[in-house]
Amino acid sequence: MSGIWVYAEVSSDGKVESGALENLTKARDLGSEVSAVALGPGASQAAAQLGGYGATTLYASDDAVYSDFVAQPAAHALAELAGQHQPELILFSATYDSRDIAGRLSGKLGATLMANATDLLGPDYAQTQIFGGTQIVDVTLSGPDPKLVITRPKSFEPSPSGGGAATVVQVDVAVPDEAKTCRRVERHEQAASGPKLEAAKVVVAGGRGLQDASNFKLLEELARAIPGAAVGASRAIVDSGWVPYALQVGQTGKTVSPEVYIAVGISGATQHLVGMKNSKRIIAVNKDKDAPIFQYADLGIVGDALKVIPQIIEAINATKG
Ligand SMILES: Cc1cc2nc3c(=O)[nH]c(=O)nc-3n(C[C@H](O)[C@H](O)[C@H](O)COP(=O)(O)OP(=O)(O)OC[C@H]3O[C@@H](n4cnc5c(N)ncnc54)[C@H](O)[C@@H]3O)c2cc1C
Repeated sequence: MSGIWVYAEVSSDGKVESGALENLTKARDLGSEVSAVALGPGASQAAAQLGGYGATTLYASDDAVYSDFVAQPAAHALAELAGQHQPELILFSATYDSRDIAGRLSGKLGATLMANATDLLGPDYAQTQIFGGTQIVDVTLSGPDPKLVITRPKSFEPSPSGGGAATVVQVDVAVPDEAKTCRRVERHEQAASGPKLEAAKVVVAGGRGLQDASNFKLLEELARAIPGAAVGASRAIVDSGWVPYALQVGQTGKTVSPEVYIAVGISGATQHLVGMKNSKRIIAVNKDKDAPIFQYADLGIVGDALKVIPQIIEAINATKG
């Protein structure tokens, strides 16, 4: 068996997605030899960064087939590599592509796949949270190696190992035509200023209580006033077309755990709570004093968001002056 692998998504300029760095840090703690796999343009360039977080070996291919086609080529290559090197565990972060690849790989290998893991206590022993994060469940992963685990974002604090660049082993896998049926036809970069929602220190999220799509700009203004803040949203206003799906927090959106989560006009439905409940501090603004969100809030403001938020912005800007 050849230790623990971390599947790392890499941009074309060789930058590694943050979830992979979190997973490398955790994999190191488990005491096994740690390797990374990166597929697509920029993969080989990631050797220094991946090595710096603990990967001794990087299985890499810069072939554009892995970015031109969705998930299938990567799942095919990972299945081949796993057959050759037999890792005991492969960790994935919860990005759209990695989730897709992990699912396909599980189908190919007949391997156990666990999603939404919040901790790993060993290569076949993980934890997750249920009932809105009120219960922790220990999970034993059975079946043949490798086990496949998708981790929840920000479950582990990424920390450099101080190691040098990973040794690059070029992946030489022929991707068959049947793994090229799902072509990426267009890439759309969401215009965004400020930090990414999943990585932001502060998240300012809005819900139906904002009354109208045009009022979301108030939250954008608040986020601009707070260093390191990003905006998020409840599903109600995503479904209404006020903001794009990329901003949705919750069960069917993103999971965030910032230092501070500011929920504005959000009722606190279970499906929303599971995506933000692990935030270090929660501030809620809601005009209904009985709104469920207040049960989870460290600070609750009962009031009309359209009046409260401008006052908060003004107060923050005044402190800057
Ligand atoms: C399978 C499934 C998956 C789901 N996944 C998600 C998910 O990922 N994320 C998610 O968010 N939801 C999800 N939902 C939907 C979820 O159940 C709720 O419907 C949704 O979160 C409600 O959004 P909301 O709080 O913005 O709206 P509402 O529940 O309508 O709440 C609006 C709140 O605004 C307050 N309010 C009204 N006016 C004002 C004002 N002027 N000032 C201040 N407050 C005001 C109200 O008191 C109320 O509490 C899912 C549902 C299902 C069934």
